[in-house]
Amino acid sequence: FQKIKEGLTKTRDSMVKNFEGMLNSFTKIDEELFEELEEILIMSDVGVSTSSTICKKLREKVKETGTTDPSEVKNLLKGIITEMMSGGEELNISTKPSVILVIGVNGVGKTTTIGKMSADLKRRGKKVLLGAADTFRAAAIEQLGVWAERAGVEMVKHTEGADPAAVVFDSITAGKARGADVILCDTAGRLHNKKNLMDELAKISRVIEREAPDCDKEVLLVLDATTGQNAVNQAKQFQAVAGLTGIVLTKLDGTARGGVVIAIKEELGIPIKYIGVGEQIDDLQPFNAADFVEALFD
Ligand code: GDP
Repeated sequence: FQKIKEGLTKTRDSMVKNFEGMLNSFTKIDEELFEELEEILIMSDVGVSTSSTICKKLREKVKETGTTDPSEVKNLLKGIITEMMSGGEELNISTKPSVILVIGVNGVGKTTTIGKMSADLKRRGKKVLLGAADTFRAAAIEQLGVWAERAGVEMVKHTEGADPAAVVFDSITAGKARGADVILCDTAGRLHNKKNLMDELAKISRVIEREAPDCDKEVLLVLDATTGQNAVNQAKQFQAVAGLTGIVLTKLDGTARGGVVIAIKEELGIPIKYIGVGEQIDDLQPFNAADFVEALFD
């Protein structure tokens, strides 16, 4: 919890501190208060439509509770945002094995995230096997290998340029043979080549369906929180080509744009599964809406 709190320092300073200051300048709850609040939310990368939804819900809550005291707005807001972000945070990985595909464009923190996730799953008693199915760059395979070693998990790899679906096939075969609980596959996320990406993901999905038909599956998209509303757009583009089941939002530390977490869940309806709050191996936190809101607001 402390880690999340520290990671959210900048977002808290820009969003919540501003909004507390604003509330202090009001003696009663009126339309001007809602408008100023909406502006602060938009400035904090919560996005226009999500900010408007939050304020609409707040108006309803204020009416419902009959309160006129601005100091009660913070608690009402906490409840509204927690409710909006709740649901589906847990990874769906109860079968042995389960298969997780991780997608994301270069630089968002995908490799680091897979490394950290391996460590987190291992800590939870899961035997993890990595599949290096981002075969587009040799560096990607090497870098994943470094993380596999750091996290103490096994990895299946082919050479650069190999068929990603073949890597996934081998990873599933190896995972089953070695008794892995979770097969975690890196995949390429080249958005500028949508047709290829779509074909590649479709082929990988067919392999998984054939080789692991009754297994739990996740398709996670890694997004960089420092890109703010661009992260939302990126998610929408990926959602159109891949059946996403969850989002990992990285680099929440060091950005004031953490409000984007709220927008993503609301606008895409895809749950956040993890948040990245630093570069170290234990800087990835399973997402929990109530903890997130508590850390953000207090
Ligand atoms: P990839 O190209 O998507 O695989 O990205 P990498 O995993 O190589 O990460 C790119 C950079 O982002 C590296 O310098 C990472 O250390 C950094 N990074 C990844 N996740 C986080 C995070 O949660 N917080 C911070 N501050 N840096 C991160």
